[in-house]
Amino acid sequence: DALPLEVKDLQVEFRTRNGIARAVNGVSFNLRAGETRAILGESGCGKSVTAQAIMGILDSPPGFVTGGEIRYRGVDLLKLPEAQRRRVRANRIAMIFQDALSALNPVFTVGFQLGELFRKHRGMSRSDSKARAVELLDLVKIPAAKQRVNEYPHQFSGGMRQRVMIAMALALDPEVLIADEPTTALDVTVQAQIMALLAELQRERNMGLLLITHDMGVVADVADQISVMYAGRVIEEAPVRDIYESPAHPYTKGLLESIPRLDLKGQELSAIKGLPPLLTDIPKGCAFNPRCRYAQDACRQDPVPPLYQVAPVRSAACHFWKEVKADV
Ligand code: SF4
Ligand code: MG
Repeated sequence: DALPLEVKDLQVEFRTRNGIARAVNGVSFNLRAGETRAILGESGCGKSVTAQAIMGILDSPPGFVTGGEIRYRGVDLLKLPEAQRRRVRANRIAMIFQDALSALNPVFTVGFQLGELFRKHRGMSRSDSKARAVELLDLVKIPAAKQRVNEYPHQFSGGMRQRVMIAMALALDPEVLIADEPTTALDVTVQAQIMALLAELQRERNMGLLLITHDMGVVADVADQISVMYAGRVIEEAPVRDIYESPAHPYTKGLLESIPRLDLKGQELSAIKGLPPLLTDIPKGCAFNPRCRYAQDACRQDPVPPLYQVAPVRSAACHFWKEVKADV
C-alpha cells in the first residue's frame, strides 16, 4: 500500500526584493501510518514552508512550489485537479499551528466552529454536529465539555485553546496530522501535556504525525524519525535514537549541545554560533560552512554535499560525517 505521505524533491521559491529565495530546495521524506517524523531546524530553515506546501496554503505570491511531488497514498497532490486536491487536504491531511488564537474565529463559539466542520463536510444537522463537538472536546480532555462547547476562544487558556485546535484538526479523521510548533507558545508544563495528548491520539488513531519544531528537547520522547533541515535542505535523516546517540552532521550535533540540561545548570550552553544564511544568499558548497567547526576547504566549494548513506536508514549531508559521528 502507498504511504499516507511521500514528499519527493520538493522545491519552493519566494520572490523577494533581494531576489529569489530558495526556501525549500530538494526536500524528500516519507511518513508512514502511525509514525511520527520530526522536521527539526532553526527558524528560516524551510520547515514551516514545507508544511505549508503540503497543505497547499502557499500556492500564491510570493511563494510558489516550483518542483517535486507531494504524494498522498501514491497520488501526487500537485497534479490533481484543484477540487480533488482540496478535498484530500480538507479530509485526509490536517494541520495545527503555533498560534491557536489566530486560527480560531473569535466571534463564534468553539462548539459552532467544530460543528461547522460536520455540517459542511458531513452534511450533519445542527444538533448532531453539536453532539459531535462535545465528543471531540472530551476526546482532547477538556473538562466540562458540555458547558465549554458554548464558550468563545478567548475564554480558554492557551493550553485549552491548543486542545480545541487539536479537536478541530481531528474532526474529520485525518490520516496525516501536521503540527507546526504546536507547543512553542505555551509554558513548559502545558507543553508536556499537549505533546503527551498528541502522542496518545496519534497512537490510538494510527495517524502519521509530522511534527515541525526548533526544539530538540520536544522530539526525544515522541518522534520515531527525524529530518533535520538547514537552509532549505534536509541535512540529516535518521531514527531518533541514532540521532541522539551519534549525530553525523555538525549542525545536528550543535542542536543537541544546545538542549538545556538540568544537570549543567549555570554552565554556558554551547549553542551554535552565528546565524543561518539568508535564503537569497546561500553560501557556496556546504551552506553550514561559515558556522561549522569541522569545515575544511572542500566545504567552501561546490558541489553541495550530497546526502551520504551513513547506515541503511540513515543519511547525512556532510563530507566528513565519519569524523563527526566518531567524535563524541
Ligand atoms: Fe561542516 Fe564541511 Fe560537513 Fe558542511 S560538509 S557540515 S562545512 S564539515
Ligand atoms: Mg515556523
